[in-house]
Amino acid sequence: MKAMVLRGPNTPFELVQVPDPVAGPREAVARVLTCGSGLTIQHIKAGRRQAKFPRILGHEITGTIVAVGTGVTELAVGDGVTAYFYLNCGHCRWCLANLEPLCVNTGGNVGLDCDGGYAEYIKLPAHIFIKLPESLDYKAHPAEVGVITDALATPYKVLRHAQIKGGETVAIFGAGGGVGIHQVMMAKWANATVIAIDVAANKFDACRKAGASAVVDPRGSDVVEVLRDLTRGAGVDVVVDYVCTTATLEAGVRALGRHGRLVVLGGAAQPFQLPAREILLKEQAILGSRYVTRVEILEALDLVGRGEVWPLVTDIRPLEEAEAVHERVERGEVTGRAVLRIA
Ligand SMILES: [Zn+2]
Repeated sequence: MKAMVLRGPNTPFELVQVPDPVAGPREAVARVLTCGSGLTIQHIKAGRRQAKFPRILGHEITGTIVAVGTGVTELAVGDGVTAYFYLNCGHCRWCLANLEPLCVNTGGNVGLDCDGGYAEYIKLPAHIFIKLPESLDYKAHPAEVGVITDALATPYKVLRHAQIKGGETVAIFGAGGGVGIHQVMMAKWANATVIAIDVAANKFDACRKAGASAVVDPRGSDVVEVLRDLTRGAGVDVVVDYVCTTATLEAGVRALGRHGRLVVLGGAAQPFQLPAREILLKEQAILGSRYVTRVEILEALDLVGRGEVWPLVTDIRPLEEAEAVHERVERGEVTGRAVLRIA
């Protein structure tokens, strides 16, 4: 098969022929239609995240099952599928409690610890594939359907995790990023008032279109003061931080009002200081949020299937152009998601 292989960090992709994957016991193989090209993958390419090389990257796939190994009962040839990003075991207490991202037997990630979707075919343990609902015409919209599992489901999970209610104010750091802009979309869907915070002025229009009622550039202004002003002094109900530098996290917690929640996601993951007295007096909470559960992906797929939200994909290119797409991702030029088309 044709595959885009990365031989090491900070090297260009190589389009090569590799043997077709063969499904072993309890495995399945899918023909890949599309695969998302988000920042998570670019972090591997740029050497900011460890992976085993050579590697075929990519996890936000849309595909069709073409072979199943022995013992596979949940999938059949012809099924439309996407994939779970984590190679979770499926049977530890965390997996059984619908908290799969916390799996204690995790095998790592699709596209990092096993080959991913930048190829004509992908082989995974059968339980890692997620069957697409009938309501989604995945053959007509493979690019949008494939990014639901991460770009849309991750923000969807935050709504539940932080118990975001209609009428609450949600401020999002990194709102212009590929997942951040979907957080704007999902918080708006939950009837929250959304404040987008980003340094990328080229993303502000898209943030407004996705549902932000205000857009804040934190440079040159005191973002805490701006957030207090925007909430008439009350402070915001929820801060979702996709940047996670010391500065954004400390500003985020200071901008919270009574019963405020700070959600810590990806990004720089720097340490930060917390005002214990404020947290006590205002009954605030700090929440870590890591990827999504399988049920949350199914719910996000259903939301799109019902037409309530639609993933923002603005750049769809053939697999051969992976290098150019990743240069755009690295420079922050992509609004929403870029997607590679394989079939
Ligand atoms: Zn597990």
